[in-house]
Amino acid sequence: MEPEDLKICPYVPNHRMPASRLQYHLASCKKKNPKIAKKMANCKYNACHVVPIERLKEHEASCTDRTAVDDEPFNLPKFISPSLEPNERPSNAAHQILDPDIWNESEEGKTMNIIMNEGLSPL
Ligand SMILES: [Zn+2]
Ligand SMILES: [Zn+2]
Repeated sequence: MEPEDLKICPYVPNHRMPASRLQYHLASCKKKNPKIAKKMANCKYNACHVVPIERLKEHEASCTDRTAVDDEPFNLPKFISPSLEPNERPSNAAHQILDPDIWNESEEGKTMNIIMNEGLSPL
């Protein structure tokens, strides 16, 4: 009924067949074209997905048949984002503006302490 529904054989693009026959065809086509098959790999999510080995990871990452279970380790690192850092800066800057006054006072107190301590030592 729908001629566009034909699948293209990943080994030999001239081979076209209905999706229902693709899996069977792949098995026999793989045997007939071992040299081509060597450079191809099966998607672990769907046996009908045959892609060049160097593109296998790329395909499996975006495969429509990927199961939710395989997504688990993928999601974890994305949750940790350093979104708190920009928030800390303004409060830090405000602190630095206030700081010099406080620092000067405590520095004076320290100086006073040193003078008093020195006054204790006999001359
Ligand atoms: Zn084929
Ligand atoms: Zn796939």
